Amino acid sequence: MNLTVSGIVLKVSQSGDSDRFCTILTDTHGVISAFARGAKNMKNKNSTATAQFVYGSYELFRRGDRYIIDESQYEELYTGLREDILRLSVAQYLCQLTMELVPGEQPAAEYLSLMRAALWYLSENNRLPLLVKAAAEMRMLSMAGYMPDLVMCRECGAYEHDLMYFIPSTGQICCGHCGVKSGEYPVKLGRGAMTAMRHSVYADLKKLFAFSLQEESLQQFSQAAEAFTLSKIEKNLTTLAFLHTMM
Ligand SMILES: [Zn+2]
Repeated sequence: MNLTVSGIVLKVSQSGDSDRFCTILTDTHGVISAFARGAKNMKNKNSTATAQFVYGSYELFRRGDRYIIDESQYEELYTGLREDILRLSVAQYLCQLTMELVPGEQPAAEYLSLMRAALWYLSENNRLPLLVKAAAEMRMLSMAGYMPDLVMCRECGAYEHDLMYFIPSTGQICCGHCGVKSGEYPVKLGRGAMTAMRHSVYADLKKLFAFSLQEESLQQFSQAAEAFTLSKIEKNLTTLAFLHTMM
């Protein structure tokens, strides 16, 4: 079976002296593994498009439970990621999160749009890396079936309050007046962070990263998004641990 997909290369492993084994987020088949013979060689026709973080189109054929890349054409290289270790590390982490959350053999065009936008903003360096990370985390988890309920305080129905609490384990919010139960480990959200949380989950995907935040709000937003992510994936990601060594 031959097929052509659009995708982002999330991870590359060397295979032998000259081959590459790629993990690719595709528009039509979710996250797949694909083998590119000879692609480690710079002169190989598939060398450029099978590097990590490349967005392109891939002609594949299937052999058993793996895909083999026949032809490929890159469209975006996101070369700006190589300029800064923090932005690169956020990109690495989002790729690993994608591999955790996106199933194989299912349409994943929305995830691909999300990752294209995240990598573009990180590469162009016109949003803070923590903002891209937090917004991408909240959106990806929502797409993966972990949609939080950020509409109103779960107790009194208040939409706004100077202080809101986000409860990572349940994805709910509580106002500062009602408060939370013991053992819920809430994250405090001021008005800026609360707005950012709602935007990251409910805004049009095309506008996901189109906002900015003051430093204190960004810290709260970042803390809430990461706590929510960890409560859902329930494992330590190596790329996140590495990112923390720089933050
Ligand atoms: Zn309340």
